[in-house]
Amino acid sequence: PKDSDLYVTSTTATIKFKLPADTSATSNSKELAVIVKNLYLSCDPYQRLFMEKIPGLSHFKSYTPGSPIFGYGVAKVLDSQHPDFKAGDLVWGTTNWEQFSLITTPKNLIKIELSDTDVPLSYYAGILGITGLTSYVGLYEYCFPKEGERVFISAAAGAVGQLVGQFAKLMGCYVVGSAGTKEKVDLLKNKLGFDEAFNYKEENDLDVALKRYFPEGIDIYFDNVGGKMLDAVLLNMRVHGRIAGCGMISQYNLDQPEGVTNLMHLIYKRVRYHGFTVREYYHLHPKFLDFILPHIRQGKIVYVQDIVEGLESAPAALFGLFKGHNIGKQVVVVDHE
Ligand code: NDP
Repeated sequence: PKDSDLYVTSTTATIKFKLPADTSATSNSKELAVIVKNLYLSCDPYQRLFMEKIPGLSHFKSYTPGSPIFGYGVAKVLDSQHPDFKAGDLVWGTTNWEQFSLITTPKNLIKIELSDTDVPLSYYAGILGITGLTSYVGLYEYCFPKEGERVFISAAAGAVGQLVGQFAKLMGCYVVGSAGTKEKVDLLKNKLGFDEAFNYKEENDLDVALKRYFPEGIDIYFDNVGGKMLDAVLLNMRVHGRIAGCGMISQYNLDQPEGVTNLMHLIYKRVRYHGFTVREYYHLHPKFLDFILPHIRQGKIVYVQDIVEGLESAPAALFGLFKGHNIGKQVVVVDHE
């Protein structure tokens, strides 16, 4: 092996990583490479959006056919040119769906502090990573929940939804979630502390269902699904209500997105709809960790993961999100350290 190349030896093979040519002292440390062993991968609905070109979204980076897809995950550093990382460090951030990765943009990796490894490492692929931050930012930065307010969450038994509901309960809100199976509805009511929950697939009329749980209307809607549910919620919002536009998973696989017909209710009720992406809030992650870690350690937040073993299980796990197969956060184990 030449000095400028890095080699990883597993039980079955030796893999050679060609490092970027310029490793001199003058090179920008942000461009220095890190080799990692991937441990946990996060399955996220947004990854579907990287599988096609979306009109008007040229800033979206698409996946390249024939190359591993990327996403959030937890990994162990095997070797590093970068001064911020050393072999043995545990990190979370953007990595590739493969066993070992050469990360040439380690600015997208965050070191996991040893003091914060008393919780399961897979949590950094979910509640302690992007999923948790999304729930936190969407609820607190955009919805401003107050005690006694009425909160509705769609895809409530999923990764983001389960946390939004619990955060809202911590604020003393009345919280209702929708989900696609009886098992998920039971989970929301009996384990996650939601006041009410319903199976939207069993409802003929979503407007009627919402009026059943919110006779006085909805103050806050955390929208994970868009489409028909958003349309029905608009009819039920209270004056000065807030909607966090987190995601629209019901639309991601449609050639032609469904129209939303009740938008005028934003005006009638002076409702604020705010779309957001968590990418703009990475700077809040340390503050978020200070908030969430004590809650986890004290058992004040319940976190449900849906874990599958093996990289070969990853594609089915990812596409299962769009059929509602996951209960809680969908994670793929590539290796247990
Ligand atoms: P989940 O863990 O909630 O998994 C997706 C869930 O969506 C499924 O389990 C299923 O639950 C539900 N679902 C799937 N298809 C449909 C459909 N056609 N109609 C209604 N519900 C459907 O995923 P996440 O918590 O990771 O993501 C939730 C939302 O948040 C997504 O829209 C995602 O894009 C968005 N998001 C946005 C971010 C941002 O920065 N704005 C960051 C992270 C996520 P069920 O069985 O209940 O139908």
